[in-house]
Amino acid sequence: MSASHSPLEVARVSESSIFITEERIVGEDEGQLAGKTVAVKDNISTKNVRTTCGSAMLERYVPPYDATAIKRLKEAGATIVGKTNMDEFGMGSTTETSAFGPAPNPAAEGHVPGGSSGGSAAAVAAGEADLALGSDTGGSIRNPAAFCGVVGIKPTYGLVSRYGLVAYANSLEQIGPFASSVEDAAALLDVIAGPDERDGTSRKEGADSDYASAADGDIDGLSIGVPTELVEGADDGVRETFWDAISKLESQGASYHEVSLPSIEYGVAAYYVLAMSEASSNLARFDGVRYGPATESDGNWNEAFAEVREQGFGPEVKRRILLGTYALSAGYHEKYYGKAQDARAWVKRDFDDALSEADVLASPTMPVPPFELGESLDDPLKMYLSDANTVPVNLANLPAISVPAGKTEKLPVGLQLIGPVFGEETIIRAASAVEE
Ligand code: GLN
Repeated sequence: MSASHSPLEVARVSESSIFITEERIVGEDEGQLAGKTVAVKDNISTKNVRTTCGSAMLERYVPPYDATAIKRLKEAGATIVGKTNMDEFGMGSTTETSAFGPAPNPAAEGHVPGGSSGGSAAAVAAGEADLALGSDTGGSIRNPAAFCGVVGIKPTYGLVSRYGLVAYANSLEQIGPFASSVEDAAALLDVIAGPDERDGTSRKEGADSDYASAADGDIDGLSIGVPTELVEGADDGVRETFWDAISKLESQGASYHEVSLPSIEYGVAAYYVLAMSEASSNLARFDGVRYGPATESDGNWNEAFAEVREQGFGPEVKRRILLGTYALSAGYHEKYYGKAQDARAWVKRDFDDALSEADVLASPTMPVPPFELGESLDDPLKMYLSDANTVPVNLANLPAISVPAGKTEKLPVGLQLIGPVFGEETIIRAASAVEE
């Protein structure tokens, strides 16, 4: 496995950059988002503007069509200001696996912005855009929102069309909003939510909701479940900030009780087996012929294909393709993929039980404050384990929001609020009370 993209001239935008491509696309004159600027993660297809997924493999890919979320942004009058840096194909939690180099964290100098939608969160935190779109397969909206001190929403599976989102792991991911306030994030969700005949997994529930109006801070009588397993593993400073936020909610009329999600201990393992399996299949389509590194091989097709994929994918992506292919291979399928599917069902059942006795569940979004740049790049396991609080939500297809809860040693800490399927209004209401 080669350690870098060096054989290729991947245009590093700079040492550390929020945008991979800066290009202004002005939407219609009027609409809910008229006058608002939006930054878009570079795995969401934009017509005539290149969409690299942070990979050398798609360095020259210019989509001939818009993702449905982009079409809706334009119709709502938004101005798209550029395509943001991300972990390659969404695989990472720091934006450091990008072929274009990492993105900065405007809220914590010298630290990662989180990932994989790090550029989108950073764009909002730096004031480069009012709003941003990201995608969340296992935390990629909530993690960078927490690390950059902004708001991020991972919608219920099926609420937002994924037509035009370059797939990493289809059964887990959703497009969702970033903003500097809960109300603005909710207003962006209002624009992108709703069924789409081009995405067979999109659903009509939630289409008539008014998310922005739900950000009214009225949480009188709200019942909050705190899953012990998602709090006890967190760093001391993160835990303190978390409990301060819960007290704040209590003082506004909410009550909390502790709950248990026993199967959550299988969450990270199940997530990574499933995500890598799906990724190995999704990424099989990339041959680099039209959009990636050119090959000089005049040998047979298998050789050329191997050479292009060796050059075009970074080390993290290769690791996942190899592990995912292994988990799906004959003889191992039931041992890994089958078991992970079982664990996914248990996690979902535990969430359902906990949410039958609480309106929302609350936890720290990330168990740790932002890593220093370079700190976790050579330690994939450390990076995977830091996803412990976010990936179970994707396994259960639930909605969740990350809202700034405060700081520990000058580093941002996010509060995660998890709701039942299509319970976006409830988590938005609760999150807006945290801002009060
Ligand atoms: N960090 C997780 C992963 O690497 C989540 C990424 C995401 O949500 N795209 O798979």
